[in-house]
Amino acid sequence: MNIPGDRVASRAKHAVQACIHRYHLEDPHRWPVDIFRVAEAEGWEVLAGGDLAPMMGWATTCGTFRRMRLNTRVPWAWQRFTVAHELAHALHGDLVSLTEADGSLMVATALTATRGRLLRDQEMAASLTAARLLIPDALLDQTLGQGVTLEEIARRAAVPLPLVQLRLGMISATDFLRAMRAAVFAAPAS
Ligand SMILES: [Zn+2]
Repeated sequence: MNIPGDRVASRAKHAVQACIHRYHLEDPHRWPVDIFRVAEAEGWEVLAGGDLAPMMGWATTCGTFRRMRLNTRVPWAWQRFTVAHELAHALHGDLVSLTEADGSLMVATALTATRGRLLRDQEMAASLTAARLLIPDALLDQTLGQGVTLEEIARRAAVPLPLVQLRLGMISATDFLRAMRAAVFAAPAS
């Protein structure tokens, strides 16, 4: 029986592991993970987008062209998450498969705080991979069960606290989406 979904999932998992290895994301000397450098090395141009609410940001690809635009009114930690999330889409093949469907079209994904959108499997998978990239296994090994608070782990990884909670399976996809919405709509005027 042909199960293409499983093959894609396995290929995506391999791409994520290869990325972690290629950029030494488990190396404590490189924490917090410089996700902007990783994106640049992967061929992304990352631009400040100002207030993009209800979006955290979006990414477009066309052939080898890759560009992200970030909502720069949300806290820095959320901007880092957005870069990792869009990078994850590319590692998962989400952007590529869409490009193959119509190579002549600019393909876009958006990280939207609109209710329910993040709950779709592809979006949640990208957020979980973003958490995996930004919060290394080795960081969790060093901190969990050592009396280090989740807030301190978030600080060391330079990520929003809800991303640590998502990584550890402590909050639901719905709660994570709620936290993202709060960050998008509570962003102070710059
Ligand atoms: Zn997405």
